[in-house]
Amino acid sequence: MAKDGTEYDYDLFTIGAGSGGVRASRVAASHGAKVAVAEEYRVGGTCVIRGCVPKKMLVYGAHFAEDLEDAKNFGWTISNPKFEWTTLRDNVLRDVDRISGLYGETLENNGVEVFTEHAELTGPHEITLVSGKVVTARYILIATGARPHVPDCPGSEHGITSNEAFHLDALPPRILIAGGGYIANEFAGIFNEFGTHVTIINRTDTLLRHYDESVRDRLLQISTMKGIDFRFHAEFRGIERTDEGCLKVSMTGHDDIEVDCVMFATGRVPNTEGLGLDKAGVELGDKGEIVVDRFSKTSVDHIYAVGDVTGRVQLTPVAIREGHAFADTVFGDNPTAVDHQCIPAAVFSHPPIAGVGLTEGEARNTLGDVKVYQADFRPMKNVLAGRNERGLYKIICNAGNDKIVGIHMIGPEAPEIMQAAAVAVKAGLTKADFDATVAIHPTMAEELVLMR
Ligand code: NDP
Repeated sequence: MAKDGTEYDYDLFTIGAGSGGVRASRVAASHGAKVAVAEEYRVGGTCVIRGCVPKKMLVYGAHFAEDLEDAKNFGWTISNPKFEWTTLRDNVLRDVDRISGLYGETLENNGVEVFTEHAELTGPHEITLVSGKVVTARYILIATGARPHVPDCPGSEHGITSNEAFHLDALPPRILIAGGGYIANEFAGIFNEFGTHVTIINRTDTLLRHYDESVRDRLLQISTMKGIDFRFHAEFRGIERTDEGCLKVSMTGHDDIEVDCVMFATGRVPNTEGLGLDKAGVELGDKGEIVVDRFSKTSVDHIYAVGDVTGRVQLTPVAIREGHAFADTVFGDNPTAVDHQCIPAAVFSHPPIAGVGLTEGEARNTLGDVKVYQADFRPMKNVLAGRNERGLYKIICNAGNDKIVGIHMIGPEAPEIMQAAAVAVKAGLTKADFDATVAIHPTMAEELVLMR
């Protein structure tokens, strides 16, 4: 019986134990709800198992290539450094196991029951597990995330996605990455630092569409300088395995290319199939995403959805917010809608990008009268290292009231710096507030308060 005395087995049954599902379940349980979660793969979801966490570890591992090179001008002699992919891969996968275990413990410590199997809605309040067990719940939360989209082209089965990239037996000497978004640029940086020759192909000539244009252009310029090849306005025609075991890729507008690995990084599609959503009457949008209101409620009153499966903003911290807000709304007597405005985000490319608020283009289109401040500088460390890579910071201001409406950066540690700067933008601070703040010298971040 549920804790609210109703006839259901649980107050809440969550499908999917990723970032959003785990947070929602844990908080609902802490509000006194009897909760169960079904997860068909591993607790932790995309972020922990095959996304943000292992990716960031690879980014750290990759960056040593530059650090070792830069160390020379700082007086260090490091003879014959070697990189062993399998060591990094196995260490990363081991840490993923550890973190996944911690997520499991969190659920257990909060009294959440975990079923490690597929679950499907089979009645208004009924869930059937693949083992045949049938349970009922007053509320149901869908938090099944998304999976990589693979374009439909002959031979696409020869390609991998970011899911498999963490498990490669060996680094490919040549890789073709399809897409110009987050995953393409992050993995291009990772593979390139490890010595793989990287070619990015993109269907348009725009990388990272939602980021500020000057920052995107700077990434393209630096990535090209580092040896990454780009082919724009290219769509797959087909992929063939050659007799030598390589992959021959043909595309529109460009010559064929032969590589050892093809990786698709062409967006992610919501996991909504096989859940019984249609029978339950849950409305889906054009891209298969679950349609929800401000409180993450679906078209069915007692069914909610959070995270990537809703296609709102596909970012872990957003899923976590949505999961928490759902639990507070439904079980904590505290209706909470997540504010999706002004979300800071970062791309862990080499160098990384970070942004919050409006880009210059968006500000000009929506506000009309804007002021743009810019710092284009070579970080001190790069100067001594002899690394010809410049950082770029931009502040976008509403000229009418001096409010900062956007900050965009590319350069070392940009995501770390942005997290603090985003507080100021979210709080609606003005350019005068930034000007009144004393710099910390010498840092890169000081540029944020020195732009005039
Ligand atoms: P993105 O949406 O970032 O980029 C997808 C890219 O693929 C775009 O360049 C897009 O082109 C192109 N594309 C889309 N569909 C097709 C198609 N049918 N054929 C050819 N090209 C296509 O997706 P990612 O896969 O890189 O990442 C998925 C999501 O995961 C991101 O949107 C982000 O929300 C999240 N993520 C966040 C990270 C972070 O916070 N650091 C890291 C990794 C992922 P076009 O621009 O023309 O649409």
